[in-house]
Amino acid sequence: MTLAQPGQPYVYTRRELVEPDWRRLPGFSGVTQAQWADAQWQRVNCVKNIRQLRGVYGDLLDDAFYADVEADQQHRATMSILLPPQMLNTMVPTGRPTSEAMLADPVRRYMLPVFSDRATDWPSHPYATRDSLHEHEMWTAEGLTHRYPTKVLAELLSTCPQYCGHCTRMDLVGNSTPQVSKLKFELKPVDRQAAMLDYLRRNPGVRDVVVSGGDVANMPFKNLEIFLDGLLELDSIRDIRLATKALMGMPQHWLKPDVVEGMARLAATAQQRGVSLAIHTHVNAAQQVTPLVARAAKTMLEIGVRDVRNQGVLLKGVNTTSEALLDLCFALADEASILPYYFYMCDMIPNAEHWRISVADAQDLQHSIMGYLPGFATPRIVCDVPYVGKRWVHQLAEYDRERGISYWTKNYRAGLEARPGGLGDPVPLERRYEYYDPIQSLPASGQRWWNTHAAPQQVQTLQEGHDRAAASAAASRALIS
Ligand code: SF4
Repeated sequence: MTLAQPGQPYVYTRRELVEPDWRRLPGFSGVTQAQWADAQWQRVNCVKNIRQLRGVYGDLLDDAFYADVEADQQHRATMSILLPPQMLNTMVPTGRPTSEAMLADPVRRYMLPVFSDRATDWPSHPYATRDSLHEHEMWTAEGLTHRYPTKVLAELLSTCPQYCGHCTRMDLVGNSTPQVSKLKFELKPVDRQAAMLDYLRRNPGVRDVVVSGGDVANMPFKNLEIFLDGLLELDSIRDIRLATKALMGMPQHWLKPDVVEGMARLAATAQQRGVSLAIHTHVNAAQQVTPLVARAAKTMLEIGVRDVRNQGVLLKGVNTTSEALLDLCFALADEASILPYYFYMCDMIPNAEHWRISVADAQDLQHSIMGYLPGFATPRIVCDVPYVGKRWVHQLAEYDRERGISYWTKNYRAGLEARPGGLGDPVPLERRYEYYDPIQSLPASGQRWWNTHAAPQQVQTLQEGHDRAAASAAASRALIS
């Protein structure tokens, strides 16, 4: 029951989760409960192209909608289409989808981008880059990014069960699109993982490993278990976090008996050794939290995983209102036992300007969600500042609101910065690092400044970006070897 609270900016209402009825979609009208619950059926029936999209929606969507998706894939997309039925079913979850409803839908806006959504004057920020967080430059083994003093990111694979339009690792993750040819790992997975474990063995100051990709749900479980067992054997590793958007996009995977049993084995070993084994997922809209997602998350907790946390991304048109964020956080915390943990500002990758918001707007959002959730479940809104790392959005050192340039400082050296000939920055602790607001969000005078100082044709082309990213990955490999 909701009590009337006059003047309250947000009114909390507990909402029961509902699995949208997939039979409302023509292509899934004959799908049984057993098929829907089967992870293999979900994988086989993923939508990867316009023909398959038509196969699901048929005449519910008009030709203009399909053409809009096609134009986006041809001219703007940095990620190819990959949508499991579970994910599709959370778009326009009540009623039969129409083109209009799909265009307005928050999940569609980031999982199935259309050309007409993209910004026209500045689709990319002049400082947008493919590897916007410079992760390749911080590889200390292929795929192992060491940019914080005590923690690393291990990218085990470059695929996911679903591809998100705004993926920050668009440089490496997924299939090439007409606009973006992806970088490839060079080492065989087994050699790459051995090199990662070797680095961690030689660097006991690293205590925390984010095991990611891609999405670990795309790794054969026995291979994932071998790597995690390797981590658990290292006494120096105290925290392991598995990154998987599939907990939401394909919860059927995390409910497979072999996966549940395997996770139970790993959780038992972790508990025995005093290691915190957690799952980090990525949910951006409340309507994506369904009973199946809740069941997958709760199953992981029941078999001994220490915590399931959410790291969402702030995306305009999806979740950049306090109401959308709080609805999502309450759905996660109340109904699925998933801890709202972070919301990242969308990174400065190419063609993302229609999704990004300014630091000032992110600060307002952080302020507007304070006080409703328990403190431990109030997510921090963070800016992932290139070469710095995550900073709470109020932590900036200086902010030029007219030109949308914020300045950030760093309080540690990490990974290759400490090596002779490393990242080439001798004074990382004295430097200020820039982050840029979307130009569309600036006052007219600021927009005029950018028009004078960075003409759109100066924007790094995606091929130039590919070449630079490939060169920095090669430079890291040379330093490692
Ligand atoms: S699941 Fe994560 S890694 Fe995979 S495409 Fe989405 S954002 Fe990128």
